[in-house]
Amino acid sequence: MAYKITSQCISCNRCLSVCPTDAIKVTDGKHWIDPTLCTNCVGSAYSVPQCAAGCPTYDGCIPQPSDYWESWFTTYNRLVGKLTKKQDYWERWFDTYSEKFSDLKLTTLHN
Ligand code: SF4
Ligand code: SF4
Repeated sequence: MAYKITSQCISCNRCLSVCPTDAIKVTDGKHWIDPTLCTNCVGSAYSVPQCAAGCPTYDGCIPQPSDYWESWFTTYNRLVGKLTKKQDYWERWFDTYSEKFSDLKLTTLHN
């Protein structure tokens, strides 16, 4: 679950300098959070998400609900990608094992 900036944002820019992962971007004057960079500030020196904590609006910056497994894969892909330098580790893992599994099924069917 990453944080997201909503239409309530008043573009005060406070969040830009406090994000420890540089996840907050500005495109055409609109602020947004790159979910692949946002760590919810976990692992940083902060105990609460800095963008939401310092936001002067009530709901300009809120947690983004997302599918559990999507969020799990995003986090682990990033961590494994850092360690192995392979960004698509889990996709490769899945492709390799599904191929092996279907080979095994075919071999079993033909015997
Ligand atoms: S929760 Fe933390 S890491 Fe995520 S965008 Fe906000 S300040 Fe950056
Ligand atoms: S701190 Fe809040 S209002 Fe200010 S730019 Fe960030 S999201 Fe927008």
